[in-house]
Amino acid sequence: MTRRVFRYVPFTIEQDQTAEPEYEARCVSGDDAECGARSGTHGRPEGVEEWQRKHTQDTGHRRYRRNFGDYAVMRPAEERPPERGALVYDPGTRRVGEYQATVGPYALLRPVGGGREWEADPGRIRPATQAERLSAGVKAANSRAVRRP
Ligand SMILES: [Zn+2]
Repeated sequence: MTRRVFRYVPFTIEQDQTAEPEYEARCVSGDDAECGARSGTHGRPEGVEEWQRKHTQDTGHRRYRRNFGDYAVMRPAEERPPERGALVYDPGTRRVGEYQATVGPYALLRPVGGGREWEADPGRIRPATQAERLSAGVKAANSRAVRRP
């Protein structure tokens, strides 16, 4: 028997900000059969509550079933921006830098050991490997040594 091994990918779950959550209510009042009147979907709970008040005023019905729906997206953990100060590799310049922030379309990286920041494509940078970290650290130490009078 073969076992298939899947790489475990951690995801974060985020509400999709591009889609409005939906609130709705259905009147479940009635002795024999439910009334079944519906509020329709609203982007805010207040819209549903307003409909409930009006429906109760009109009919005397007092029991509702309410539903809330939203959209959620699963985001692989590696798509999250790195922590500030994390060492990342930029394939565009083939350099390792300390992640500073993402500003507009660019990720700002600072050379290890200090220096002028550069702009990288946030979609392409990735955590630096151990070898890349060491190499960047050594280069930074060398350039410091050279600069020293
Ligand atoms: Zn009703």
